[in-house]
Amino acid sequence: MFTVCLTAGIVRGEDRSLPQPRVVTPGVTDSAPPSDAVVLFNGHDTSEWTREDGSPIKWALQSGTLLVRTGTGDAYTKRKIASAQIHIEFDVPYMPAQHDQARGNSGIFLQGRYEIQILDSYQNPTYADGSCGALYNEYAPLVNACRKPEHWQTYDIIFHAPKCSPDSKVLTPGDVTVLQNGVLVQDHVRIKGPTDEALDQHVCDAGPLRLQDHVYPPGTITPMRFRNIWYRALAE
Ligand code: MG
Repeated sequence: MFTVCLTAGIVRGEDRSLPQPRVVTPGVTDSAPPSDAVVLFNGHDTSEWTREDGSPIKWALQSGTLLVRTGTGDAYTKRKIASAQIHIEFDVPYMPAQHDQARGNSGIFLQGRYEIQILDSYQNPTYADGSCGALYNEYAPLVNACRKPEHWQTYDIIFHAPKCSPDSKVLTPGDVTVLQNGVLVQDHVRIKGPTDEALDQHVCDAGPLRLQDHVYPPGTITPMRFRNIWYRALAE
């Protein structure tokens, strides 16, 4: 449409000198990786992942999914990620004998520091800022958009890393937006800091995506599954 807006005497027209948007070919579905995505898990291999000590993860490949083997440790991407659009799918196990945080629990740590909670929050109350879709201990989700356990769910995450000075002082804190199953659950919230003090505090450095092997209560098995994990790096 050819329109010209007159705002306070400034003419806004069609400026054809602006560069054209870069072409990105979308995936065959909105969940499939677009052409400029880095695929972190495609259902067939775990080569993008490592344990904290650098050894291969001990989680299982099962029917195109990545199955958490409880007690073998978290999974970290080998890649260090800064600002990014992240897509991940998860299938929370049904653990009716457990309640609250002891039900199907995992998490996605952005840069290994900021946990977007994964929990069976379908008819399973817990503290709000520890429920599924929470930025753990900082922001409860806007709504509970959980599917029942044993149904695949999606997170689409827009993460902006903190902006820092050359001497690693935070100038602008990081922020995150999260859609769970297509529903907005975190709306551009300003991240206050790493989820706990034991995590890497060098917030000006890029960091891995980390998937949690949640071991609680002791002896409980939590067969959480993941699939279709990819991200697009965002310009800083
Ligand atoms: Mg968790």
